[in-house]
Amino acid sequence: MTLFRKNLIDGEWLGEAGSRNINPSNTGDVVGEYASAGPEQAKQAIAAAKAAFPAWSRSAPLVRHAVLKKASDEIMARKDEIGRNLAREEGKTLAEGIGETIRAAQLFDFFAGETLRLSGELVPSVRPGVGVEITREAVGVVGIITPWNFPIAIPAWKIAPALAYGNTIVFKPAELVPESAWTIVDILHRAGLPKGVLNLVMGKGSVVGQAMLDSPDVNAITFTGSVGTGKRVAAASVEHMRKFQLEMGGKNPLVVLDDAHLGTAVDCAVNGAYFSTGQRCTASSRLVVTDGIHDRFVAALKERMEKLVVGDALDAKTQIGPVVDATQLKQDEDYIAIGRKEGAELAFGGERLDAATPGFYLTPALFTGATNAMRISREEIFGPVANVIRVGDYDEALAVANDTPFGLTSGICTSSLKHATHFKRNSEAGMVMVNLPTAGVDFHVPFGGRKGSSYGPREQGRYAMEFYTTVKTAYSFAG
Ligand code: NAD
Repeated sequence: MTLFRKNLIDGEWLGEAGSRNINPSNTGDVVGEYASAGPEQAKQAIAAAKAAFPAWSRSAPLVRHAVLKKASDEIMARKDEIGRNLAREEGKTLAEGIGETIRAAQLFDFFAGETLRLSGELVPSVRPGVGVEITREAVGVVGIITPWNFPIAIPAWKIAPALAYGNTIVFKPAELVPESAWTIVDILHRAGLPKGVLNLVMGKGSVVGQAMLDSPDVNAITFTGSVGTGKRVAAASVEHMRKFQLEMGGKNPLVVLDDAHLGTAVDCAVNGAYFSTGQRCTASSRLVVTDGIHDRFVAALKERMEKLVVGDALDAKTQIGPVVDATQLKQDEDYIAIGRKEGAELAFGGERLDAATPGFYLTPALFTGATNAMRISREEIFGPVANVIRVGDYDEALAVANDTPFGLTSGICTSSLKHATHFKRNSEAGMVMVNLPTAGVDFHVPFGGRKGSSYGPREQGRYAMEFYTTVKTAYSFAG
């Protein structure tokens, strides 16, 4: 019998079967059926979150700590099962799915701790006898809108701080990955959240998401997804004078200098460009390589790519899972055709692959002879496609790396302290990696970018407080 999951509104599981969740490694495998909310249910969820806010925002820190800690413990205890379901619905490998699940547990654990570390400031006033207190308070109802590519980590890094700082939530996950979203909500619900504090509204972005954007009762929206949708979130939020935070696309450069360790550079390129099927906002889709190492780097990279095992995400041998769905596969193939037409050479891969089961399999693609002006170098493809851009020296590499409308991550492979130090200071990205892949970050430090990649305060770590709280300055005169 097919699994059927409902939405959680005001503490009740509601809804009728709406959409089917298909395994991209095997399109004959239906993960489950999921309720699809309409605008009325979205409004009910928002009203429930609004009603639950006064009590939750004033709850004792230990109450919030207990829920978050319990959720963390359950996620960790069930990491293999949850990670497997994640790999099954999204197509990242089993190891990646379990790794992402562990990260979600760590995020809940971190923010459980943060509930007990809240503090303010006591400042002397410029007026005699007056005291000034600076404190932080919860913002209100937070709308959480998430993409499909990190089905559990992104919801976790938004839900955990929102709850820790006393906000209530309306959570709308991406249509392609409802099982991971449902699981995390189910765990938090059973961990003891009062009704209405966390509401799950699975459904279409244009319906449920839009209803959240249009509501005057949503006090803040945190969004991760494409630039196009991000702009809609921004425009609607300005209209309602609400707080908003956007994490969007990337076109991240990995610079490889002549003095790089070749093995490290190839490891960073393979991991950054192709792991998680290249479907990461932090993926290195531009490999900016200096003349002296270019040919050796390309040859070694191709050799490694030949050995990469593309296949069913649930097969332990698989290193690169399928593309998430038919639409994304078409987008990847369209860009591969565009790259060839623009004059770049397809040096490896980019072909559909038949596996034992029907799925969206694509061999990782490498372009050489690309320029930074080509569309394949400027637009986010969001698939296992990377371009090698040949440059003369470090100065040109830095200029090319920074010449992009995005600014999420960047990386450099070099043994020169001088160049690494200069790059860290002058790269126009929110996160910079030296001799490390551009993707793969810690859970306890700020995450976010610049330019077209991000807008608003950083996510994760203590910096998350900036978005999920509002500052109050209180003056008192003792008389
Ligand atoms: P998307 O913009 O299509 O969808 C994101 C979410 O927005 C989904 O839940 C969707 O249903 C919802 N949505 C769609 N239309 C809406 C509307 N009118 N109103 C409100 N919500 C609406 O993005 P996607 O395809 O799911 O995700 C891929 C994108 O996410 C890529 O661009 C990737 O770079 C980006 N991403 C960024 C980060 C980051 O931290 N910078 C992390 C992961 C993914």
